[in-house]
Amino acid sequence: MAPGHSPCASCKLLRRRCAKDCIFAPYFPSDNPNKFAFVHKVFGASNVGKMLQELPVDQRADAVSSLVYEANARMRDPVYGCVGAISYLQNQVSQLQMELAMAQAEILCIQMEHQEPLAPSSATLADGIVPVHPAHSSMSTDDVVSRYDSLKRESSSLWT
Ligand SMILES: [Zn+2]
Repeated sequence: MAPGHSPCASCKLLRRRCAKDCIFAPYFPSDNPNKFAFVHKVFGASNVGKMLQELPVDQRADAVSSLVYEANARMRDPVYGCVGAISYLQNQVSQLQMELAMAQAEILCIQMEHQEPLAPSSATLADGIVPVHPAHSSMSTDDVVSRYDSLKRESSSLWT
């Protein structure tokens, strides 16, 4: 270790000498001690070291960001970990898909309404169709957009 070079977050926490070829040093810089602390707490430093050693160098950064994500999720939700976040997001996706299908059905209804005046007996035909206007539906486009933004925030906050 060169003089003045500070040990990586891993070696600092484990109170050991940070070698020049330290496997943790490229991924756990000393300025972000929590990143390693959480990974160490959830997976154990030696397991993480073994996992990184088994991987080609070009895949290690991806593996570390996955481990950091999973460790952060486990700290937030000790029971379900990132599975909790995944099923929360999957529920949101299916709810939004349902809302999208409903909106598409409403569009079809409105399009059919506009075609009505062509038929001579439009008054009687229209009685059978209950028009659903976007203003009356429970969720506007703005709501869906803001829900999507909060989803993005939810998923990105796990990476910090
Ligand atoms: Zn180190």
